[in-house]
Amino acid sequence: VQPENNAIVIFGASGDLTHRKLIPAFYHLYANGLLPEDFAILGVSRTEYSDQDFREKLKISLTETEKVNEETLIKFCEHLYYQALNTSEVAEYALLKQRLGDLNDKHHTQGNTIYYLATPPSLYGVIPECLGAHGLNDETHGWKNLIVEKPFGYDLASANELDERIHAHFKEQQIYRIDHYLGKETVQNLLVFRFANGMFEPLWNRNFIEYVEITAAESLGVEERGGYYDGAGAVRDMFQNHLLQVLAMVGMESPAAINADSIRDEVVKVMQSFQPLSDKDLEKNLVLGQYTDSTVRGDHLPGYREEHGVADDSRTETYVGMKMFIQNWRWNGVPFYVRTGKRLPTRVTEVVIHFKKTPHPVFGTNAPENKLIIRIQPDEGILMSFGLKKPGAGFEAEEVSMDFHYGDLEETNMLTAYERLLLDCMKGDATLFARTDAVKACWKFVQPILEYKENPDHLFGYAAGTWGPKEADELLQGDERNWRFPCKNLTNTDY
Ligand code: NAP
Repeated sequence: VQPENNAIVIFGASGDLTHRKLIPAFYHLYANGLLPEDFAILGVSRTEYSDQDFREKLKISLTETEKVNEETLIKFCEHLYYQALNTSEVAEYALLKQRLGDLNDKHHTQGNTIYYLATPPSLYGVIPECLGAHGLNDETHGWKNLIVEKPFGYDLASANELDERIHAHFKEQQIYRIDHYLGKETVQNLLVFRFANGMFEPLWNRNFIEYVEITAAESLGVEERGGYYDGAGAVRDMFQNHLLQVLAMVGMESPAAINADSIRDEVVKVMQSFQPLSDKDLEKNLVLGQYTDSTVRGDHLPGYREEHGVADDSRTETYVGMKMFIQNWRWNGVPFYVRTGKRLPTRVTEVVIHFKKTPHPVFGTNAPENKLIIRIQPDEGILMSFGLKKPGAGFEAEEVSMDFHYGDLEETNMLTAYERLLLDCMKGDATLFARTDAVKACWKFVQPILEYKENPDHLFGYAAGTWGPKEADELLQGDERNWRFPCKNLTNTDY
């Protein structure tokens, strides 16, 4: 179903996210005929541009980074507009109202509007207030949806405060909190894989699963985003939102129906069942790390503190590894080992389900484990490993795998995360956006970690290009386990 005509107002239109992610996503949706019959994209930020300047700037960046068709690009650019505005000045929103009115007439948007907050987070509370003050949140003529970029708050108290400020002007059904992990095909596939197949769900519990590993590794450092990252760290940037969302989708019960409320009801129940972290858990089950400089295959990799925008004496963590539990009937006692970090040996995000061994080792103690690997990126797919008889004499078992790769499908037209999420918001489908209770449940769980990480003694170093601090290995070794080494099956190992 094609979405209804609408106008999209991007606050922060001169910034990095707009250029690198949002405009390319809109272009691809347009090129694939997925946008409405008519629409307008209005960029807003303080920098002065004319519509023409803005179009030219985006045309250049699109041509440099994307495969574009010249004719399609020209037509797409006819939908782009720009309005210079100081977003924190409520009086200036009169200009926005005027402009939106004009675009409404020109592009027949019926008043349907998406406001996309891609500014510094300090403005996430201000903009909805200013929109409210000018009645730009009013749904009498057309729907009004508000997309909020991450981070949603800095801790539990600030997330609560931000939520209150936004809710004063927008109803929960109008608010779309971006967690771009939820826009990934393979994360959505977790639902289909689990609940459309009869064969996995009966095994998906504490009786058959020994433990679960979730890894989100990045090979890059902080690149140009040191200034932002140094104030956030891996706990806020990755763990609190993306990893806990993925974990909840691995752990959730079957939803009553496939719609935003049913799915998100189940997601939030898992989050509310995370075993709260005691001081002892933090000491025993959490490892924070920061990368130090190193040389990998002749390349010098700078340490985190040498990165642009990072303080020389920064204690910000670039790695989190932890063991956590879900306290409910399905998962009680099953450890979830979760890790994420920058400057690790490769870029990979995957979930590994480790099944229990057979009750009696008929073929000896070295029989391979049964594992299910859900690869979220790159080389998206599902790998199942199990033991088969090694050909020849005797009954020795060896590990083999059965793999599915999305890339092998003939017709793979996978939408990027931003394409999928923008399209869903236009259609009014909030399934893949974080709901207020989920955001709060995650911050509540993470709050003790934020306090724990304030102590500088709780940070370990790891050489750039390695799998994190050795203390993170010990986290599993204490349970006589090891992290899976995900490079083995990857085609694009960076180091
Ligand atoms: P950025 O490059 O620093 O851009 C910030 C934008 O906000 C600029 O367009 C800036 O334009 C505008 N802005 C700042 N103060 C303003 C004000 N008072 N009034 C109006 N506009 C103002 O940041 P970004 O990387 O695009 O990130 C934007 C948001 O998305 C951040 O909250 C970030 O956490 C989030 N995010 C970014 C990424 C990414 O890959 N970049 C990924 C995930 C989430 P003017 O200076 O012209 O006003």
